Amino acid sequence: MMEKYDYLIVGAGLFGAVFAHEARKAGKRCLVIDKRNHKGGNIYCENIDGINVHKYGAHIFHTDNKEVWDYVNQFVEFNRFTNSPLASFEGKLYNLPFNMNTFYQLWGVRTPEEAKAKIEEQRAEFDHINEPANLEEQALKLCGRDIYNSLIKGYTEKQWGQSAKELPAFIIKRLPFRFRYDNNYFNDAYQGIPKGGYNPLIDSLLEGIEVRLNTNYFENRSMWDNCAQHILFTGCIDEFFDYQCGHLEYRSLRFEQHHLNIEDFQGNAVVNYTERDVPYTRIIEHKHFEFGSQPTTVITYEHPDNFAPGKEPYYPVNNDKNMEIFNAYKKLAEGCKNILFGGRLAQYAYADMDDTIAAALDLWKKQKDF
Ligand code: FAD
Ligand code: UDP
Repeated sequence: MMEKYDYLIVGAGLFGAVFAHEARKAGKRCLVIDKRNHKGGNIYCENIDGINVHKYGAHIFHTDNKEVWDYVNQFVEFNRFTNSPLASFEGKLYNLPFNMNTFYQLWGVRTPEEAKAKIEEQRAEFDHINEPANLEEQALKLCGRDIYNSLIKGYTEKQWGQSAKELPAFIIKRLPFRFRYDNNYFNDAYQGIPKGGYNPLIDSLLEGIEVRLNTNYFENRSMWDNCAQHILFTGCIDEFFDYQCGHLEYRSLRFEQHHLNIEDFQGNAVVNYTERDVPYTRIIEHKHFEFGSQPTTVITYEHPDNFAPGKEPYYPVNNDKNMEIFNAYKKLAEGCKNILFGGRLAQYAYADMDDTIAAALDLWKKQKDF
């Protein structure tokens, strides 16, 4: 296989698929390999009884980036799904994100003015915190004790397997806070789920490109290194460099899936369980992503899990210790001629799908100009 290809792309996830698509469009010969038995990486869907099951966790496409929105719409049509998760705490349901509905459910306040006054009263106790040193301080300063204790603390601590006092403050800044009756989880201009799930998007991106599944780059590294002029690697960067600067930490997930012989289990795509004692963080009911009317339903309990070799690395743990290790790998990567690194595993970053697409397009543009 001596330099048969211009590009070997390791990983058939979203990053690899977008890059491969652009390279092929420019007339490059591409080979995509993936160690899994399917394309799509973490956005892969499995069809069960007509329901597209998000096998690696719920994926909702949302973006403010018009270029990315137009890009994906070339390949698939999106439905009008709007993510409006519920939170279950001690038997009661609350709307998310934190908005007038939530404030009404918590305190009975009906107007934005009443809600703001209530939150000010809750925050007053934590006025003395100027620079929040951790997630707990950040959350208490932001919303006070009631919201923190019922909707944040338990969920966060089980999600990350650590006390909120040890977690970085920035994690919680991701939650929008609104004084309107509006349960849309995201503020972005564009949102939806591809009609038919995510597989048609990946299939369109990879159309006409040779893909080999069940193929692990590390099992025959020297052969793969010699088969193409350039390599794009989208796997774990620490593994690529044989862990010589140390292991990067991740948080993993365990998905417990049930196919139920009923039409509707919870009436919503996502219900979070915010109590510490409930072992899972959320239950996903997949049919609701596409307004399904099938006679049965598929639900998934999402259990946070410690990461260990053999488990999927889902969430990078971007603390100082890990970022130091990652930066050492980044330096090594910069010294590798003809090898590109991209995607969430090689960049050791949590990236939403829109950011993943934007980054892949960007990398291709740079490569093209090179
Ligand atoms: P991946 O999808 O991980 O693809 C990498 C591929 O490389 C994999 O298929 C893997 O098998 C392959 N690979 C790795 N090593 C090797 C090797 N040695 N040899 C061969 N192949 C290899 N984003 C949103 O916008 N909205 C959401 O709602 C959302 N929900 C999410 C929920 C969860 C639980 C998680 C973890 C992520 C979520 N995301 C969401 C982010 C989204 O999953 C990513 O943006 C996207 O999947 C990243 O694509 P990727 O190609 O970088 O990585
Ligand atoms: N979070 C929370 N309660 C919830 C949902 C989220 O406290 O009901 C916190 C939690 O710390 C989580 C963070 O907000 O890690 C980000 O939530 P998001 O829904 O963006 O997480 P993802 O879907 O990416 O796991």
